[in-house]
Order: sequence, then structure tokens, then C-alpha cells
Amino acid sequence: MSQLEAAADALGVEMPAADCFLCRRPLTAWLTLPGDWRKPRSVRPWHLLWCDSCSFGAVAPRPSPEELAAAYAVDDYYTHHAPQAVAAVRSLADRLRVKLAWYADLGVEAELAPWSLARHGVRAPASLCDVGCGNGGTLRTMAAAGFQVVGIEPDGDACRTANAAGLHVVEGSAENWPAALSDRTFDVVTMMHVLEHTMDPVAAVARIADALRPGGTFFVETPNNACRGLREAGIAWRWLDAPRHLNFFTPASLQAVCTQAGLEIAAVEYTGYARQFQHDWLSDEQEIHRRLKQLAAGASQIKSTPLRPRNSAWRAMSLLRQTWNASPAEKYDSVRVIARKR
Ligand SMILES: [Zn+2]
Repeated sequence: MSQLEAAADALGVEMPAADCFLCRRPLTAWLTLPGDWRKPRSVRPWHLLWCDSCSFGAVAPRPSPEELAAAYAVDDYYTHHAPQAVAAVRSLADRLRVKLAWYADLGVEAELAPWSLARHGVRAPASLCDVGCGNGGTLRTMAAAGFQVVGIEPDGDACRTANAAGLHVVEGSAENWPAALSDRTFDVVTMMHVLEHTMDPVAAVARIADALRPGGTFFVETPNNACRGLREAGIAWRWLDAPRHLNFFTPASLQAVCTQAGLEIAAVEYTGYARQFQHDWLSDEQEIHRRLKQLAAGASQIKSTPLRPRNSAWRAMSLLRQTWNASPAEKYDSVRVIARKR
């Protein structure tokens, strides 16, 4: 970026130009955040651009390596720690709302389990590589079910935690494939809520396609940016999380990135309905809203996207009414694509 462009960017006066990773046509303005909600003092615009023909979004310009490292250097980032217990539901209204949502939740299980794979004909003792495995939760489940498992994880601390627990996890990523695994192919590659973090999602999936044996299966899940929850919450949507999330998929664009890598789509599944109505989801969005509001107030020169009304029990009930009978693409916060190598 030139000095002039950088200055314009800092002032929030001009939308940066960037091309769609999928179709290479120019992206257009979508959302602008006044900063990173996890970094209360980081006033700096994050522009999210969109491709209408692919229904795909991307942060542009991409963060520098230093900015990216800083974005993950937050105390509560999940990969460093053991999974936390789900916060208890609080009031009677919370319990009732969540119960209603559970009745309407016909999505698949949120955590990948042996039966998530068996549904698509994949069974132990298949070899499985989990890309972006964090501290190894999925690997542990699959190893216990008889799969031969290996993990790839960019976070050194998470690697050490997983290896100390007896798993085989190698430092690296889809875009920076570890040399130790360069000759190996797998029956299954899983990538759960990781593709949205990659600098080049097309290159990432192409590398994964290379690591699959013919007939091998790829399970990939990302937030679903076609869902109504995003439209309601706007820039305070819990799964937006820029600049850790750099790519924004919908069911159409998640399938497109797989077919571009030469994979065949076997199935599309949805997950994450009832959790959007739980107490911890509401309180997280309220906190994100509060912090973005603070960031925006401290950066009047940034033309950030106006905040939508803050989430509340009332707004959650309204979302429940709107989505109860909606199509899966509008209803669920996440989408999973199952794709096969020919
Ligand atoms: Zn496009």
C-alpha cells in the first residue's frame, strides 16, 4: 500500500480495492468496522468487501503479519485453553426461548463426531487429518473411535498442549503445509471453523485437495454469512470477528471454493440454530456491541457501518419468530460442506 493509500485508509475516506478470491472480479463495499472488538484501544478501520456473484466476503486490505499476530494475542483466545463449560442459562425467559429454539433446530451436531463421518460412509480405521485442530478436541474424539489421526495447527502453544496430551500435532497450516506431512495422503481431512481465518482460502483448499487420496473426503465448516442472525446483528454479529476472520462464506461460496479445487460436492449440512438464542450468545453480542460503539466514538474519522440495535431478549425472540420456519441458509449460523476427491 502506498503512503497516500495508507493515509486515506486511516481516515476511512476510501474503500480499498481488491478482487474476489473465487471469480477475480472486483469486490464491492460491504461492512466497515471501527476496530477489533477484542482490542479496545485498536482504533483502525477493517473493511469487509463482498462479491455479489459468488456471495463471498473478504477483509481488504489483508492485515500485515504483525497485525495478524497482534489480533490473536488476546488473553481469552480459545485455542490456548481447555474448552470451557457452556455458561448456564439464566432466567425463565432465557430457558423458554432456548427450549423453543431447540424444537426448531433440525441441524446436525456442532462438534464433529464419528457418526458425522459415518453418515457419509467414512468409518474407522480411516486416516484423518484435522487442519487447524486447536488443542485437539476433535482428534481425541476420532482417535477414541479408532481413526488414525494427525493434526495441523499454527498456534505453537496449542500444538504443545495437544502433544502433551499424547496426540500427534504438527505446527503449520493449510497454506503453510508442514514438511513432515508433505508426502502423506489421507482418507479424511477435516477443517472446522478454520477456512475463514486463512489469507488465501482458495490456495488453502487446493493444498488440502492434494493431501486427499482419490475418493477421500473433505469436511469443511465455516460461519454462514447468509444467515438472518448476521443481518439482525450487523457488525456486532458474534461470528464476524474480523480481523481473525478474513473470509466470509455462504453455502454457495463454501461449495464454490471446494469445486474450484477439483472436489465434488457430496452434501451440504447446517448447524448452529438454538445456540443463537442462548444467554451466552446474547451477552457476547451485547459486549461486542458495547466495545464497537466505544471504538466508533473514539474514531469519528472512520466511516464505520452504523451499529444495529443491541441484542436483547426481545430481539432474540424476534429473530426466533423470523427464522423458526426459514430456509436452512437463513436459519443456521454455520454451514458444513462434504466434498470428495475423484
Ligand atoms: Zn466472486
